[in-house]
Amino acid sequence: MKRVIAVVVIAVLLAGAWLFRGPIALKLSDRVVAAGMKTDAVAGLPDGLHAFVCGSGSPLPDRTRAGPCLTVIAGQRVFLVDAGEGAAEVLSAGGIPAGRIDRLFLTHFHSDHLDGLSAVALQRWVGRASTTPLLLVGPPGVERIAAGFTEAYAIDNTYRTGHHGPAVAPPSGAGFAAQAFAMPDGQASVVVLDEGGLKVTAFRVDHGPVEPAVGYRFDYRGRSLVVSGDTSASPGLVANARGADLLVHDALSPVLVRRLKAAALAAGQKNRGKILEDIINYHASPEDVAREARQAGVKSVLLTHLVPPLPLPGLDVPFVGDARKLYDGPLWLARDRDLISLPAGSEKIERKRLGR
Ligand SMILES: [Zn+2]
Ligand SMILES: [Zn+2]
Repeated sequence: MKRVIAVVVIAVLLAGAWLFRGPIALKLSDRVVAAGMKTDAVAGLPDGLHAFVCGSGSPLPDRTRAGPCLTVIAGQRVFLVDAGEGAAEVLSAGGIPAGRIDRLFLTHFHSDHLDGLSAVALQRWVGRASTTPLLLVGPPGVERIAAGFTEAYAIDNTYRTGHHGPAVAPPSGAGFAAQAFAMPDGQASVVVLDEGGLKVTAFRVDHGPVEPAVGYRFDYRGRSLVVSGDTSASPGLVANARGADLLVHDALSPVLVRRLKAAALAAGQKNRGKILEDIINYHASPEDVAREARQAGVKSVLLTHLVPPLPLPGLDVPFVGDARKLYDGPLWLARDRDLISLPAGSEKIERKRLGR
């Protein structure tokens, strides 16, 4: 008898939940939205350097990874390095307010590193009613990128200001500004920002035939992190990554890419097969990165810009290959929304995932 009553009660509750699913969903949604509106993941971070992955993917389509993007947080200042497609969504999901972005460093001008720029700039502009455009810092050519994107969205910008008013979308804050730095020769490097205890150094990397291509080193309060940009094994990278706490490096698995190439050719897709062969020599393999990390004495490694995508659990094993035998420190495959923290005044290297 008791069992019958229990079954009836559960059935009534389930029927009630089904009947009122609309209002229940609205209530839950209100709570999630209210929490999201208040979220500022940066405000709660300890002083130090932090790297947030706003995109760990590559030009090969992957619904689980945005295009190449790294957020570097120094103290409370927020910088972006590249902004591939989907970067703005990952920033939002991780609770990083786009309105906080100080400036954006470009490593090179491949489309996969640029195609999220406009969404990031729009969110930054209207997020804090910015009166200055998003500053793009990069090697020569960055002026054309800034001018081109600004022009492409110029009509849209007038709609935003017209609709929401200049107090919300000030015309002076729309679009992009550019700051080009002279390219260092050979292995040389150039300091592109030095203020408030933060030093950002650009250095040449090897992504030929793509020129110019640079990486960046961030030094702040005794902690350091290096972003490789896109490069094959590069003496310039090793020289500039010496002793860094964290090396964020692009990675391509020749073993897996050659399997994709074989499948493309077997399917009669010659163009795709040719492209898959061409890309192998201008990215580093995980083993290349491990060797360089050991040579440079870096303390941890985060592989990103993962080529090809890894849609099945277990594919990370052939992807990493022998890299973990070649390098003793922690070596991670980046996931979107990963946060690596390097608190000032300590030697800690902490990894967690932000947001939802
Ligand atoms: Zn790329
Ligand atoms: Zn590239």
